[in-house]
Amino acid sequence: MSETSTTPVRLTRKPERRTPPGPATGTVPGSGKTACIRTFGCQMNVHDSDRMRRMILDAGYAEVTRYEDADLVILNTCYVRENAVDRVRGHLGELIRLRREGRLKKVALTGCIGAAEESETLRRQFGIDLVLGTHNTYELAEFVGLPTMEETYTPELPGTEGEHSAFVTITTGCNYGCSYCVVPMVRGRMVCRSKESILSEVDRLVEGGTGYVTLLGQTVDAWRRDGERFCDLLEAVAERAPRVSFTTSHPSNMEDRTLWAIGSRDTIVKRLHLPVQSGSDRMLKIMHRGYKAERYRRKIGVFRDAAPEGTLSTDIIVGHPGETEEDHEATLGLVEDCSFDSAYVFKFSPRDGTEAATLGEPVAPEVSQRRFVEVLRGIEGNAFKRNSRKVGSVEELYVRHGANEDGRAIGETWTGHAVHLKTEANPGEYVRATIESAGPHALYGSLCGSPYGDLAPYGDV
Ligand code: SAM
Ligand code: SF4
Repeated sequence: MSETSTTPVRLTRKPERRTPPGPATGTVPGSGKTACIRTFGCQMNVHDSDRMRRMILDAGYAEVTRYEDADLVILNTCYVRENAVDRVRGHLGELIRLRREGRLKKVALTGCIGAAEESETLRRQFGIDLVLGTHNTYELAEFVGLPTMEETYTPELPGTEGEHSAFVTITTGCNYGCSYCVVPMVRGRMVCRSKESILSEVDRLVEGGTGYVTLLGQTVDAWRRDGERFCDLLEAVAERAPRVSFTTSHPSNMEDRTLWAIGSRDTIVKRLHLPVQSGSDRMLKIMHRGYKAERYRRKIGVFRDAAPEGTLSTDIIVGHPGETEEDHEATLGLVEDCSFDSAYVFKFSPRDGTEAATLGEPVAPEVSQRRFVEVLRGIEGNAFKRNSRKVGSVEELYVRHGANEDGRAIGETWTGHAVHLKTEANPGEYVRATIESAGPHALYGSLCGSPYGDLAPYGDV
């Protein structure tokens, strides 16, 4: 699942001033209240932030993007790797300084760190006002002065209704037990939402103007309900929404018919994110991933047959305890064979409570660093070759991010490629563009019939 930065979360709608319904039990006094939500981590966290945003707007807060302009700051956090926690500690330090200077009133810590034991230490160290895990985010409602009702802000409620694109949660939690991963500890066992509830949310979103629906879960392809499987759900969503994508999948759950559906359904973006973690069977076993490299390769073969122009991405961990040079070579071999279009490569980070943190045979940091660079080089070399094949093609692009101050927008092809181009089109609109050049991470295009042929890539060839 792709990671987001710590940049402020985009407003999903303009703040409205409203009178908080019911008795104001919140601890943030006064009118003209402001709140800032900062999100760390994956799309699940972005989606959780959207739900919290609904609560603060309903409670009459205006959303601001700078800490110093906020009465309440909510840090919605990631616990997957230690550097994510270190970043949050840095932000907490700054927030506590601002609070001491009287420039902000309350600090809330939510999300995956909030669900971990370490949150208690952070609460005491920084004097955090509210700590919430991933299962009780609804308690933010009471904190900001809304009546407390568990049902009020459940995953059933969309956070992004009316937006041009929206996440729809279909599963929460995870039933796997990967050696290195805290997700099952902080998000619990997998719960599959009913098809009826998912489809009615999709219908509401589409009626409200949403043109792009992303189905969300830690292992979306593990969705099962009443004898139906993920592919049945995906096809039903693809009948209703104009553009559909999903993340993240687990190789053990990915069915061939889902891969063929990606290739054949017009409304499904031809992109697959299928984390492999390692190319070595020995490491996959130590990690408890539940498949062998050959099975993974076979699935990728089916995806490439089903959607030859589609984009494939993955997650890889280097330096997991016990990883030998031979294991690393096997990962490099798999990277070559699968020719990924992009990947998130991570250096192993020991997490308290996981099996991997207790294993011996740590990999030296300089060895991890070298392996990290080698895997990244392999990925980028292949991605550049594959991207270069798109140069000269004319593509229909969905505008995902409108123009920045340089006039550069980011569009997405139906094959899932990101294209940088100059256009004034709004997010959610479609434009046609010619691909002018390629780099390892993106394509660069110009609107068909436009004078913008001069868009220089950001440091790419
Ligand atoms: N559920 C997804 C899956 O199984 O692929 C991804 C969950 S996790 C939030 C996203 C990625 O973080 C994983 O695929 C893995 O590559 C990486 N990751 C998780 N725990 C890690 C750790 N302790 N050290 C380094 N990378 C880790
Ligand atoms: Fe973590 Fe593994 Fe579950 Fe993904 S499948 S969330 S890596 S335990």
